[in-house]
Amino acid sequence: MQAGKGGNGGRSSAGGRAAPAAEPAGHRTAAEQAAATDWDYAPAPESRDIAAIAPEYGLFIGGEFVAAASGQSFATVNPATEEPLAQVAEAGPADVDRGVAAARAAYEQAWGPMPPAERAKYLYRIARILQERSREFAVLESLDNGKPIKESRDVDVPLAAAHFFYHAGWADKLEHAGFGPSPRPIGVAGQVIPWNFPLLMAAWKLAPALAAGNTCVLKPAETTPLTALRLAEVCQQAGLPPGVVNVLTGAGETGAALVAHPGVDKVAFTGSTEVGKQIQRTVAGTGKRLTLELGGKAANVVFDDAPVEAAVEGIVNGIFFNQGHVCCAGSRLLVQESVADAVVERLRDRLGTLRLGDPLDKNTDIGAINSRPQLDKIRELSAAGEAEGAERWSPPCQLPPRGFWFPPTVFTGVSQSHRIAREEIFGPVLSVLTFRTPQEAVDKANNTPYGLSAGVWTDKGSRILWLAQRLRAGVVWANTYNRFDPASPFGGYRESGFGREGGRHGLAAYLDA
Ligand code: NDP
Repeated sequence: MQAGKGGNGGRSSAGGRAAPAAEPAGHRTAAEQAAATDWDYAPAPESRDIAAIAPEYGLFIGGEFVAAASGQSFATVNPATEEPLAQVAEAGPADVDRGVAAARAAYEQAWGPMPPAERAKYLYRIARILQERSREFAVLESLDNGKPIKESRDVDVPLAAAHFFYHAGWADKLEHAGFGPSPRPIGVAGQVIPWNFPLLMAAWKLAPALAAGNTCVLKPAETTPLTALRLAEVCQQAGLPPGVVNVLTGAGETGAALVAHPGVDKVAFTGSTEVGKQIQRTVAGTGKRLTLELGGKAANVVFDDAPVEAAVEGIVNGIFFNQGHVCCAGSRLLVQESVADAVVERLRDRLGTLRLGDPLDKNTDIGAINSRPQLDKIRELSAAGEAEGAERWSPPCQLPPRGFWFPPTVFTGVSQSHRIAREEIFGPVLSVLTFRTPQEAVDKANNTPYGLSAGVWTDKGSRILWLAQRLRAGVVWANTYNRFDPASPFGGYRESGFGREGGRHGLAAYLDA
């Protein structure tokens, strides 16, 4: 494991390679010198200048940035350094009223009556502006969230633009999408999103809702409001009619006020199962439409015939992508017993090459944990794993002195009753379990109250199909992991929620068909 340099502290190459024996350089051949050199990466920080951050931000209501009625605000911080980035307005009940009223007026007077082909043009415009300003969004996302710039740059921002492009294409074709002759929008959508993919989740929520003709009030997470607010600026830049998109920043109370508001016709939520259940109780009996995308505890199943190198890359991507802050993370590795030692050994080697540190450094693989409470939760569950008897391992790794950090961690000797095998940790922590037969793999994979995603690694197509039919998960990836596409429906069932996002299925959630 290599600690990256940059704004967050010093570098260590303690893991991985052994240091060469000291010897005067003049006595070596060029090849020996090259071999003896510690070929560390030079720092490659992305400049943060492109993402200028204002000292304070208002709420985005009716096409304008306005102060909160109460005048209250909260700070959003850079989790890699704990540096405050900006003060952000905190929306209270009066602001939720204003936001919903603006969305209602826009629905009735502008967006609803607008020909669908005209709506599509706005979505295309937003998509193109996101592409034009992609570097700015990537830097801002990494600053506010702590994720590595190579992920925000190569995954979050391009996928967010792709969602707007994809749904722009649907806007004027809904009559031909199999929802009946004249599918209609639902009305005003109240949408609450988490902090793990702030811009991408905003795009997942807004793009299908707008394409279907609804207007939106979006509540970003308290710790990551900045890219949603920047997206509001993009809406202004695209000339979107005022009130079609409203962004209300605030904490959980703001979200609760929004989903309970009688002027909201449809609620869409992504976040924890606990809050999802609260929202379901609030919405029950109101006639509001609801979709919930909640937690997960996915199994990533590796058979003895899987190519080990590819499987190890899939395991790493499955759990260490975005610091494991991923609802569909492959947090339970189920590996066939006969190859378990070999796979875990290769995994440990691979983890020794990951670089943890400054999220803005282009070489960084593992960024910061998003917040202090999330770090505390990861620590607590990892301590429980040790206390319950699992064996804990992390590569040698120097964590930066400031900010919220947790090293990539692998638990072996995990049994199904351990908390680390049952609860969503939402951090860079992998629990390794073994199985002997395909049926045992299915039984263990399904031994969870969640049902969001799973992965299968094997050389045999027939085994993939056999397993995919038996795994109780909304998404099953075969010989890959964490693949997302706007055309592909995503979502779970049981404690992972209901409803789909993406594809034709995702549109259905925003249509009265
Ligand atoms: P939450 O579910 O609390 O937050 C998700 C969103 O809901 C945020 O915008 C939050 O606001 C808002 N919210 C909080 N309470 C309410 C409420 N009563 N009514 C309406 N909206 C509300 O997740 P946390 O951020 O607290 O994370 C806790 C745990 O949840 C994590 O450790 C992780 O295990 C899991 N999680 C799972 C996610 C997933 O996609 N599966 C995503 C995020 C978290 P605010 O941020 O201001 O509190």
